[in-house]
Amino acid sequence: MKRVLIVIFVLIAALAVVATGCAPQQQFLSIATGGTGGVYFPLGGALATILNQNIRNMEASARVTGASVANANLLATAGADGVELAFLQNDIAYYSFNGIEMFRDRKNDQIRGIATLYPEVIQIVATEASGIRSVRDLAGKRVAVGAAGSGTEANARQILEAFGLQFDALARAERLPFGDATAQIRDGHLDAAFVTAGAPTAAVTELANSIAITLVSLTGPEVDALRTAHPFYIRHTVPAGTYRGVTAPVETVAVRAMIAVKGTLPERLVYDITRALFNNLDDFGAAHVRGKDLSLTTAQEGMPIPLHPGAERFFRARR
Ligand code: GLU
Repeated sequence: MKRVLIVIFVLIAALAVVATGCAPQQQFLSIATGGTGGVYFPLGGALATILNQNIRNMEASARVTGASVANANLLATAGADGVELAFLQNDIAYYSFNGIEMFRDRKNDQIRGIATLYPEVIQIVATEASGIRSVRDLAGKRVAVGAAGSGTEANARQILEAFGLQFDALARAERLPFGDATAQIRDGHLDAAFVTAGAPTAAVTELANSIAITLVSLTGPEVDALRTAHPFYIRHTVPAGTYRGVTAPVETVAVRAMIAVKGTLPERLVYDITRALFNNLDDFGAAHVRGKDLSLTTAQEGMPIPLHPGAERFFRARR
């Protein structure tokens, strides 16, 4: 009798183990984007939808954040306060991985790459009326320099420095997300804003549709020096007609947007994420035109950190 009881007990225990193994385990995934007036935000929303529709038990959601630097820090944060996946600039990902620049006290060599996406253009947007035509003209002006914790703010500092200026040379250096910055320009409270984002950027499009704007070009020996000091900047031309009133091409520089993940995510999960994204590029491209730039052939251009093994397996299979 005792033997029979033991056998029954063991069977029940085994069944319980099998049952829990089969129960759908939800996979929560937070995706860090940026402000609502940028490009990360619509693309992050599209990515969450793609993952939810194509990976079983996936519960992905996009989060509004201060953008690149904040996102790198969220990737380094454990638990529900952190995120598993983030959009960020390739220069900022490199600084985070190596613990340099703004990450001197926060090195995170556990950050891993999935793919680079599209050029993020350094756009210095000014009102036509401000008379700002060059970086040096920003001295004494009221300027939005990117949200607190953004890659834009880091780019603004480096670019001003290349032209011999600091934030304190500006009449005001405001930390604002793109949408707030352009609203303040429209209302006459600011003269210009730095915007590092895929073009066209919604916040700039809206501004250009309501007042006369100019895009300041970035050329000359100062830009050569900038590129030597910070090699992630590549030359980039904003085509004429990108915004209302921009009637000639504007020469500037760009970095690259990318998607990064926590290195601790399982290989299988990151493989599934990468595959879902590349199998649904039409949906990604429908959220913002820059989403159409993503392709298997360009996904490693400017990749500044090691790929996650799950992404690596996906690209190796597709090569
Ligand atoms: N690259 C920007 C930043 O990190 C954000 C761009 C966007 O929101 O599309 O500051």
